[in-house]
Amino acid sequence: MGDDSGYGNCDDEFYNGAYDDNDEGFEEPDSDGESCGSIGEAFSCKVIRKESLLAAQKNDLQRVMDLLSLKEHHARTLLIHYRWDVDKVFTVFVEKGVEQLYKEAGVSVVESEYLSSSHVSSNISCEICYEDVSANETTTMDCGHCFCNECWTKHFIVKINDGQSRRITCMADKCYSICDEGKIRNLVSVRDPQLAEKFDNFLLESYIEDNERVKWCPSVPHCGNAIRIENDKYCEVECACGLQFCFNCLSEAHSPCSCVMWELWLKKQEKESESVDWIKKESESVDWIMKNVKSCPKCHKPVEKNGGCNLVQCVCGQPFCWLCGNATGLEHTWTRIANHECGRYKDEHGQEIERARKELWRYTHYYNRYQAHTESLKAEENMKEKLHQKVAALESREFKTKDYIWVLSGHYRLTRARQILLYSYPFAYFMFGDELFKNEMSSEENTIKQNLFEDQQQQLETNIERLSMLLEEPFDKFDEDKLSETRMKIINLSAVTDNLCKKLSNCIESELLGPLQQATHIIAPYRSNGVEKASEL
Ligand SMILES: [Zn+2]
Ligand SMILES: [Zn+2]
Ligand SMILES: [Zn+2]
Ligand SMILES: [Zn+2]
Ligand SMILES: [Zn+2]
Ligand SMILES: [Zn+2]
Ligand SMILES: [Zn+2]
Repeated sequence: MGDDSGYGNCDDEFYNGAYDDNDEGFEEPDSDGESCGSIGEAFSCKVIRKESLLAAQKNDLQRVMDLLSLKEHHARTLLIHYRWDVDKVFTVFVEKGVEQLYKEAGVSVVESEYLSSSHVSSNISCEICYEDVSANETTTMDCGHCFCNECWTKHFIVKINDGQSRRITCMADKCYSICDEGKIRNLVSVRDPQLAEKFDNFLLESYIEDNERVKWCPSVPHCGNAIRIENDKYCEVECACGLQFCFNCLSEAHSPCSCVMWELWLKKQEKESESVDWIKKESESVDWIMKNVKSCPKCHKPVEKNGGCNLVQCVCGQPFCWLCGNATGLEHTWTRIANHECGRYKDEHGQEIERARKELWRYTHYYNRYQAHTESLKAEENMKEKLHQKVAALESREFKTKDYIWVLSGHYRLTRARQILLYSYPFAYFMFGDELFKNEMSSEENTIKQNLFEDQQQQLETNIERLSMLLEEPFDKFDEDKLSETRMKIINLSAVTDNLCKKLSNCIESELLGPLQQATHIIAPYRSNGVEKASEL
């Protein structure tokens, strides 16, 4: 999914002219962004509905059965072992040969002659229960092991109830051959038809649960669909039920945040939300520390600090410690301030507390912005209805041009970019914080990268707010000239914003995370068209 040149939702009459109000924070579209032809972002994910699950599974089974001339249950055993990766089965077949392929998966394909020969004698002694039973009361598996039906049935029921339906092995000592699902089904359904049905469902669901390319849609209540992807699992998809999610971690779509970062962020939020009041209180005290003016512990008048000394004196005559705010005596030496308990140990403790406060302050900075943009996104999503009304109002007027696609595509661009922007805050929190990359970047490197990132992020933010403002304007009441001007601005801003999103994502991928070689922080690529909608299988 490496396509970043696709250009979606753009107007037919894309405006390429210069934007006249080109002041700071505004950026011209890159030359490659000016082409409008939709090269298209590869569509590679499918929605598998309940009804099509069986067909999807059958299709993969058939491919393996055809290639290796196998029975269905052997093909299934192979595919379950290789996690429904048909290509993997073919690769192992080519590279290691058919025997090794079967052995690794526990498939026994024995000549039928051998199987029938075990039925020659009419009475057989079962080696599990030591009963003598007639041959038609026994079952022989593909591995050649034969036991009485009673023993097999008990064995299968235990395994199915144990959740091991997909890999029920033979009862014989040291035999790891997988039992024939048809024989299992027949024996179990005699004793417990419902359990046999359950067994079938387990086999069917294996197609999803043992398959790295297929996952259940995480919707609640569950829509019943699964999503199958063809390429990279680090992507964002939209199920037929409308839910958008990250295919890799099944959380909400969160790029340009990595899955690991997003998980940490959610945990952090959970932890901090337990004590929102505490945060507020702490933020205030952080504020207090940061300020150059503090209030006197005696008369509460503001006192300013001059120079580096942490013993300050109020106009009322009260000396106090700048670090902790407590009243002290006046005399002090290099090591000790009179009547004050800020000893060496406590000073270190104080630094520790200050570090914790700074860390909290830092978190609050990112959290507040993340939260603010989340709120904006909600408000802007609700804006859509109003925009439809504006378009309707415009269409009823007698203008020469009747093309108002730019209104809704501008709105689409706004919400899409807002999404990128809001998730860029948790990303930045972890990218430039101590938690993940402290040992992989020097603090100088960190600062350079942070500046680079923030320049782009702030540029994006500026343009998003402009686009938002323009779309809020009552342009349905504008005269034709002013309307045309607004239209051009919105079209141009949409393109610029899309490019800035692209740029920010590229920066994250190649300049921020790239050099760290963090295989754990793979980010779903930016798509102009947004999260990919899964198409019907
Ligand atoms: Zn037996
Ligand atoms: Zn066996
Ligand atoms: Zn769904
Ligand atoms: Zn994820
Ligand atoms: Zn005072
Ligand atoms: Zn001093
Ligand atoms: Zn103190």
